[in-house]
Amino acid sequence: MQSIFYERARDVNHAIDLAREPGTKFIGGGTNLLDLYKSGIEKPLRLVDVSRLALAGIEELPDGGLRIGAMATNTAVGTDPLVRQRYRVLSEALLNGATTQLRNMATVGGNLLQRTRCYYFTDPAFARCNKRDPGSGCDAIDGHNRIHAILGASEQCIATHPSDMAVALAALDAIVHLQGPDGERQVPAADFHRLPEDHPEVDTVIRPGELITAVELSPMPFARHSHYLKVRDRASYAFALVSVAAVVDLDGGSVRDLRIVLGGVAHKPWRALDAESILRGQAPGAELLARAGAAAVAGAHGYRDNAFKVELAQRAVVRALQTVIRKSGGQV
Ligand code: SF4
Repeated sequence: MQSIFYERARDVNHAIDLAREPGTKFIGGGTNLLDLYKSGIEKPLRLVDVSRLALAGIEELPDGGLRIGAMATNTAVGTDPLVRQRYRVLSEALLNGATTQLRNMATVGGNLLQRTRCYYFTDPAFARCNKRDPGSGCDAIDGHNRIHAILGASEQCIATHPSDMAVALAALDAIVHLQGPDGERQVPAADFHRLPEDHPEVDTVIRPGELITAVELSPMPFARHSHYLKVRDRASYAFALVSVAAVVDLDGGSVRDLRIVLGGVAHKPWRALDAESILRGQAPGAELLARAGAAAVAGAHGYRDNAFKVELAQRAVVRALQTVIRKSGGQV
């Protein structure tokens, strides 16, 4: 077995200094990285432990938003009173993910950086996976692809991103804060993950040596009226076949503003902009919701085992919107 250099970082600058060496990975909760290391998929030469950095706080910002440290656990964020009250969709997404034990270890930063659960990626016994071994091919396209993408896939990869939290963050217009060798920068959560295109081995826009330090939520008063609907094969400890993060601002009987983001259907959280346009400024009746559901899956393509996800996603969008609208006192 290959030995690994391990060091615990004292602070963010120390972590970034240590990560200048090639082959370095940051480790927080380790819930995904260690699994992938044990199966030989991740092969870090150096691990820099960032789990004890002072990045676990959840602070209210002067403008009413929230800053969530990257080392905050999924449990801490999902059960935080302000998150539950103001950003319900985020709390629901987190508490629907994994198991209690995993949520107690998994961090916000690690959640964003987790890898796909495509069977052919996670099991090195399969030879062809462009994400694991670029240029080798993709066994999923003609293989077992029940959990795979129906939107935004490429000829190189049809994997989905497994994070529930990332779907909710995209619906909340969250901002990811990064710090690396070239300083600090911010990336909208909706743009943090990328589509596979010709480089499925690259999951996100993070640069070498960069560390996620926080996620910021701007004030979005209507996010009190939000919902995360997760459809999966069993009631717990399962990834989404399809999920929907819905946030709706009702003004009287009309939709003033909204966000619809789908999970489990693409290599990144999939924002349904056309569906949002259909509803914005309108009174959301059954016919309009059905049109929005159809628009959310426009251009979807099913494979051998997952064509059912196209209609499932369409129906999930309608149900998620109905739930939020009814909870907001509206009628559908
Ligand atoms: Fe690999 Fe992507 Fe194909 Fe899965 S879908 S086998 S992750 S290339």
